[in-house]
Amino acid sequence: MDFAFTEEQQHLRRSVREFAEGEIAPHVMEWDEASHFPMEIMPKLGEMGLLGVIFPEEYGGADLGYIEYAIAIEELSRVDGSVGLIVAAHNSLCSNHIFKFGNEAQKKKYLAPLAQGKQIGAWSLTEPEAGSDAGGTRTTAKRDGKNWVLNGAKTFTTNGHYADVCVAMAVTDKSKNSHGISAFILEKGMPGFKPGKKENKLGMRASDTSEVIFSDCRVPEENMLGAEGEGFIGSLKILDGGRISIAALALGMAQGALEAATKYAKQRKQFGQPISEFQAIQFKLADMATQVEAARLLVYQAAWLADSGNARFTRESSMAKLFASEVAVRVANECVQIHGGYGFIKDYPAEKYYRDVKLCTIGEGTSEIQRLVIARQLLGKTK
Ligand SMILES: Cc1cc2nc3c(=O)[nH]c(=O)nc-3n(C[C@H](O)[C@H](O)[C@H](O)COP(=O)(O)OP(=O)(O)OC[C@H]3O[C@@H](n4cnc5c(N)ncnc54)[C@H](O)[C@@H]3O)c2cc1C
Repeated sequence: MDFAFTEEQQHLRRSVREFAEGEIAPHVMEWDEASHFPMEIMPKLGEMGLLGVIFPEEYGGADLGYIEYAIAIEELSRVDGSVGLIVAAHNSLCSNHIFKFGNEAQKKKYLAPLAQGKQIGAWSLTEPEAGSDAGGTRTTAKRDGKNWVLNGAKTFTTNGHYADVCVAMAVTDKSKNSHGISAFILEKGMPGFKPGKKENKLGMRASDTSEVIFSDCRVPEENMLGAEGEGFIGSLKILDGGRISIAALALGMAQGALEAATKYAKQRKQFGQPISEFQAIQFKLADMATQVEAARLLVYQAAWLADSGNARFTRESSMAKLFASEVAVRVANECVQIHGGYGFIKDYPAEKYYRDVKLCTIGEGTSEIQRLVIARQLLGKTK
């Protein structure tokens, strides 16, 4: 058993860290307060291969694995969770759905520009009435000659306003329930397809979370992604990989919060000594560091399994996502506590980690749903 990262993986970590600290860190609060989508860094993310990490070179990708993908998301999120989230939704949801289920023509047309970072991707499953119960999708797609006509609305789509390509799920045969949901590839500018309300959020404010609306949107039949009726089951498989990225996102923010708390504890003096000299603070830091390390092991174990080509890694990615996101919430909470009153003030990074990490226990399946998934796997209740 070897826990060491390869030389190349360590190099990747150093380059992403350097980029995040040099080109993201100086703008984090400005982007957060203005809810500014950082379009200016997208070309550089593309150049670094971070918008196509897990895809083969023939489709414009960096031809790396989930371990490298988790390293990239961890390092970006250590500095800004919003950037981690933008990259995660683009890679492991939109692009990966096309990679896993697309035909050759779709991969050439859509995956290649996404993986090269020339275009931005979004993935729309959630609807106002269908969140955890995504099988309750109401958006419809009706056949009309060589087109499908989509009607309905999605909610909470990451990158929704900025996406050039969006993979969306719609009901093609209501009688078949979740087996009657299909996936479609939509392009910005298709008549009847537009982003709706941009959400004003607690955290992850530099990432975009939007409604996506379909009104008599005519989608050519060649834009159906995968077989008819395979969209929902396909989505579950896509979420297996997606959850590794949300786990890495949580891990990065937890690491950032741990470092911020450690730095502050060494600087802040009370009762004539740095607060890091108090055992109460030392124990908090020790617990935070131990939990972060345990989360890291689960995240990279799930990434390693995904890379090993095992058929399913559902249980491991759910465990990593559940544990890392809950750890991140606890660590960010303690980070605020260690900062005392300054933890509540925007001059320090603690409050932002505290606001941002909460998303990780909700997005791509809440903690309750992760427990459901893990329990189903344990009890053999899977098909
Ligand atoms: C910032 C952000 C970005 C997002 N990005 C995307 C995206 O890009 N694409 C996309 O499709 N979606 C996205 N989502 C949606 C996200 O995946 C959903 O919010 C999430 O799955 C929960 O669905 P819901 O909000 O409808 O909550 P609900 O399903 O209504 O859940 C409410 C509560 O009930 C609990 N609950 C529900 N069912 C059960 C059950 N069976 N057992 C126990 N408890 C249960 C939940 O755990 C939760 O605590 C995003 C959400 C946010 C906030």
